[in-house]
Order: sequence, then C-alpha cells, then structure tokens
Amino acid sequence: MKVEYRACRKCKLLVDAKNCPVHPEEKTTKEWFGFVFIESPDESTLARESGFTSKGRYAIKVR
Ligand SMILES: [Zn+2]
Repeated sequence: MKVEYRACRKCKLLVDAKNCPVHPEEKTTKEWFGFVFIESPDESTLARESGFTSKGRYAIKVR
C-alpha cells in the first residue's frame, strides 16, 4: 500500500496527516515535488541551509 505523503507549507516536513505535527494550525498539501531524507540535521549542510532542524522527510518544493 502506498502512503500518500503531504507536505507542510511552512517547514516542508512530509507527513501522512492533514496537519503538520510541528505547526498544527498549518494544513499540509499534496502539491509538492521531490524529497530529501534528513538523517542527522546537525551534520547535513543541506539541512542547515534549508532550515530542516529535525530528522525526517522533507519536500524540496511545496506549492
Ligand atoms: Zn510544519
């Protein structure tokens, strides 16, 4: 079964819920493209530059 991920418009975190766990007031969207998996945010330049502060999947582009 395929999980349809949704992305938070604020932090780009990919979740399978209708709202972001970090921003409960923010509705997630299916309109996103590409994703990165951040394993250790402290050691990742990409994570630092993109503002991804916790481990998880993030969308590269959110509409
Ligand atoms: Zn969020």
